[in-house]
Amino acid sequence: METRIAPEFRGTREGDEAEAILRACVHCGFCNATCPTYQLLGDELDGPRGRIYLMKQVLEGATPTAKTQLHLDRCLTCRSCESTCPSGVRYGALVDIGRRIVERKVGRPPAEAAQRYSLRKGLLSKSLFGAALATGRAAKAWLPHEIARRIPDARDAGMWPAARHARRMLIMQGCVQPSIAPNIDAAMARILDRIGISGVRTAAGGGCCGALPEHLGAHDDALAIARRNVDAWWPAVEAGAEAIVVTASGCGVTVRDYAHLLADDAGYARRAERIGALARDPVEVIAAEWKAIGPRIALDRGAQRIAFHAPCTLQHGMQIKGQVEELIDAMGHQRLPITDAHLCCGSAGTYSILQPELAGQLKRNKLAALEAERPHVIASANIGCITHLASGTDRPVRHWIELLDERMLDGGRG
Ligand code: SF4
Ligand code: SF4
Repeated sequence: METRIAPEFRGTREGDEAEAILRACVHCGFCNATCPTYQLLGDELDGPRGRIYLMKQVLEGATPTAKTQLHLDRCLTCRSCESTCPSGVRYGALVDIGRRIVERKVGRPPAEAAQRYSLRKGLLSKSLFGAALATGRAAKAWLPHEIARRIPDARDAGMWPAARHARRMLIMQGCVQPSIAPNIDAAMARILDRIGISGVRTAAGGGCCGALPEHLGAHDDALAIARRNVDAWWPAVEAGAEAIVVTASGCGVTVRDYAHLLADDAGYARRAERIGALARDPVEVIAAEWKAIGPRIALDRGAQRIAFHAPCTLQHGMQIKGQVEELIDAMGHQRLPITDAHLCCGSAGTYSILQPELAGQLKRNKLAALEAERPHVIASANIGCITHLASGTDRPVRHWIELLDERMLDGGRG
């Protein structure tokens, strides 16, 4: 698409990057077919092609309005459109730039700005979030059912093995996951320990990956968090950690992008590139270590009917498709077919809070698809999706890594 970037953006990093992305788009509209918000709302401006057009206008010098902002706000950043696009348009990078510019030029009414600010600060602080969650759990019995079911029950983390092996991998401690579901990272550590790798928690100082502020248009906050994480994790990387395992795919996709985020920062670019290259989703680690893991799976422990929801960050963001599904089969479970598996569940970071109607409809649609064959368990790979889906069903919703942990024999076979 021919693009004439306005002088205020020409020659800037965001202007140049946006121009390159816009030029790749041929405006064919194939992407609309797989866009969840276009499917729900039927408005061209609530689909990727329309949003790209809106951002193009802004980058060419048009003044954005609150309506421009609304259409960008309604985007889930699920990147389903990227999977569909035949021209390789990097929509996710473009919408991050578009949102930043529109945020600067349009601003927010005070109540909205306050809500976004408190989300950024509250969810990023482990102590604040942990305290709020503990309060919610304590009051759960007195809350209306619809609110109470959104508060996840406390879960026991189980044992975290001592670091006894020469081979080591870092396991990233995110912002909300250690409070909501500490068992996920502990399960990963136990799996690694059984095959001779110590899973070590990332050092204090790390925390949120930066995804939440980035998608809320607070780019400088995201950069500061990425730098803090690079500083916190670097000593362990220098000491020989083989990988940084990120059990929440929503965080994994962001950590992989650190090289891009910090490319202009001479003090961090090289280390950020290394950190991004070491980031691994659990499924990549398990696949690479399958020779050691496969023989330890107890196929006789009883197959369960599993419905797997592939998070958008896994299938569209990282383009990891079908691998977790293969592992669930290899664990001896019965994996159930899911219709429209490419569609978002509506969680999408803070989207479920900021766009509750759309998020609620997407959740209902996703649960209808996941529960159609009456699974025993719904499995996923991202804490946001797990929590969001669990708030709408009485079935257990779990990370697939927990299922693998339960399926493995401690001592191996033979
Ligand atoms: S983003 Fe891709 S699929 Fe969508 S209109 Fe542009 S070229 Fe076509
Ligand atoms: S990221 Fe998702 S919601 Fe946003 S335009 Fe693309 S497909 Fe639609």
